[in-house]
Amino acid sequence: MTRAERFQQCLPVPAWCPACGRRKLEADSEKSLRCRHCGFLYFHNVAVTSSAIIECGHTFLMVRRAHDPHKGTLDFPGGFIETGERAEQALLRELAEELGYEAQVDPVYLCNFTNVYEYGGVHYHTLDLYFLISEQTRPEIRVDDDVSGHEWITRNAVPEDEIGFASVRNASRFYRRWRSD
Ligand SMILES: [Zn+2]
Repeated sequence: MTRAERFQQCLPVPAWCPACGRRKLEADSEKSLRCRHCGFLYFHNVAVTSSAIIECGHTFLMVRRAHDPHKGTLDFPGGFIETGERAEQALLRELAEELGYEAQVDPVYLCNFTNVYEYGGVHYHTLDLYFLISEQTRPEIRVDDDVSGHEWITRNAVPEDEIGFASVRNASRFYRRWRSD
C-alpha cells in the first residue's frame, strides 16, 4: 500500500471537493488531497499541541480523559494550539480552562513526541510539545468537562497501562529519565 493510499484510509469516505462539490477528492500524497475534477489541492498538515507536566515533590499531575479518543485513560493537561497562539500561551489558556489553574511559574520546555489523534473518522497527525511546571505545593485544581478527574502520580509508580496515547507514555518516560536523581 502506498503512503497516499494509507492517507486515503484515514479519511471519512466519500470525500467531496470543497471547491467544486464533486466526489472526486483523493489522496495525492501522504499529506495532501487533490480533486480529480477541478484540481483543488488541500494540505492536511501536522497539528501542534501543548501540554504540561506539573510536578510537586515526587509526584506529578495527570488527568482522566472524559471523551474519546481514549476516553477514561490518563493524559497530561493541555490541548491544541489555536491559530496565532504561541505554545506557552496555548498551554496557560488550556490549564486555566481545563483545571481552573493559573501557573505562578513560567513553563519550561521539556520534550516533544509525535502522535495520532483520531476524531470524527479523521486521523490527525500531531506534534505534541511538553512543558514542565514545578510547584512547591500542590495547587488547587477544579476540572472542567473535558476531564473526569485528576490524580497526583508518584514518579516511580506510573500506571502505564492506564495511559492511552503513545505520546503521553513517551513524555512520562522522558520526564522520569530526565528527573531521575
Ligand atoms: Zn473539485
